[in-house]
Amino acid sequence: MQFRDIIGQKDLKHQLVQLYNQNRLGHALLFLGKEGNGALALAIAFAQYLVCEKVQGISSIPPAALLFDAPEPVTADVEPMFDSCGECPACQKAAKWIHPDIHFTYPTITKKPNEKPIAADYATEWRNFLKTDIYGNSFDWLQTIGAENQQGNITSRECHEIIRKMSLKSFEAPFKILIMWMPEYLDREGNILLKLIEEPPANSLFILVSEQESKLLPTILSRLQLIKVPRLKPIDIEASLELKEGCPPTEAASIAAIADGNYREALHMLKHADDDWEPWIKSWLNDIFRNTREAQMKWVDEVQKLGRERQKLLLKQFLQLIEMAIRVKISGTAGPANTENELKVELAGKLEKKFDAGQLEAIARELSDASYYIERNANAKMLFTALTIKLYYIITNKSVILAN
Ligand SMILES: [Zn+2]
Repeated sequence: MQFRDIIGQKDLKHQLVQLYNQNRLGHALLFLGKEGNGALALAIAFAQYLVCEKVQGISSIPPAALLFDAPEPVTADVEPMFDSCGECPACQKAAKWIHPDIHFTYPTITKKPNEKPIAADYATEWRNFLKTDIYGNSFDWLQTIGAENQQGNITSRECHEIIRKMSLKSFEAPFKILIMWMPEYLDREGNILLKLIEEPPANSLFILVSEQESKLLPTILSRLQLIKVPRLKPIDIEASLELKEGCPPTEAASIAAIADGNYREALHMLKHADDDWEPWIKSWLNDIFRNTREAQMKWVDEVQKLGRERQKLLLKQFLQLIEMAIRVKISGTAGPANTENELKVELAGKLEKKFDAGQLEAIARELSDASYYIERNANAKMLFTALTIKLYYIITNKSVILAN
C-alpha cells in the first residue's frame, strides 16, 4: 500500500516523509484519530515507505545506522521521495502484507479453550480484512473473526510474542516495524511492553494506531510520539466515492457532506443510499399526529435496529424535506425540479401546507440536533423517543394525517 492509495491526508503524508528524512522520527509513534479516517492505512503505507529499497537508496541517513534520535536534524542533499516506489521487492512484499520486517498486532478472540490467542492465529483473516475493509473499525474486525459477543483482547501471550519478534535481527530491511492496531485492547497486560518501548532494540519502530487516547495505558501513552490523524475532508471522501466506488457526483457530494470525515460511514451510507425513507417519515408523523403511544414506541424500536448510519440517512432525508418545504413557503418553489425529486416535492408541499414557518424551522432544528447527537453515539432509543415527544409539541397545534 502506497501513500497514493490512501484517501486524502495530503499534509500528513508529507509530514511523515519529512519526519523521517529530517531524522526527527521517534522510535514509538502513536497514530491517533477518529474511526474511518484511514490511520491504519497510513501506518501501513508509511511502513512500506520506510522499507522501500528505492527510498533507502537515496536516503541521506546511512541505512545501517540507528535511524532515530540523531543529535541534529539531518537535511537530505537529494530531494526525498514522497512515496514508496511500489515496485521493488520490499514494496511488493509490503503490499501483500508479508514483508518479514513488518509485523502486525491486533485484537483477537479465543480460538481454543484455555489457550490465549495471538495475532498470528488470525493472519489470513487479517490480510483479508486489510484488503477489503481497511477503513473498518474494531467491531468490523471482531465480527470478521466471529467474535459475536466475545470481547477482543491483545493478550499477554501476544505481548511476549511481540518482545520476541522485535528482539530478532531484521531480515531484509535496515530495521523492523511493529504496527499495533487498537492498543486500546491491551488492558493491563500492555505493561509487559513498557520496557521494550522505553528501551527499544536497535533499529526498531513501533507504530500504535488508536482511536481513543483515553483508553490507552497512561504508562505507554507517555512514551509515544503523537501523530494526529485528522478527519477526512468531505472533498476527499467525495472524490474517492466517485473514483473507487463509481458513485455519481451528486450522490457522492451528499454522502461526503454528512459522513463527518469518516470513510467507513460514507461506505455504509453508500450501501444504503437507495433506501427509501419516506414511508418511515410518513408513519412517524402519523403516529405523532394520532398521538398513539404504542405505535410511536414500536416505530422507535424499529429505528433503533437500523444502526447509526441509516438513522442519520433517515434524519437527513427528513431534514431535506423540511428544508424544501421552507423554500416553498418563502419563494413559492421547491428548487430546481427533476424527476428524481418529484415525489419529495409532493411530500414537501404537503408539509408546507400543514405547518407554519416557525414550526418548520423548529422541526429542522430538532432534526439537525438529533443528527449531531447520533454522530456522537447517543443512545438511539432515548434520542428518538425524546425527538418524538418534541415533534409532538411542535406540530400538534395543527393535526393532520399525511398518508393517503
Ligand atoms: Zn519500493
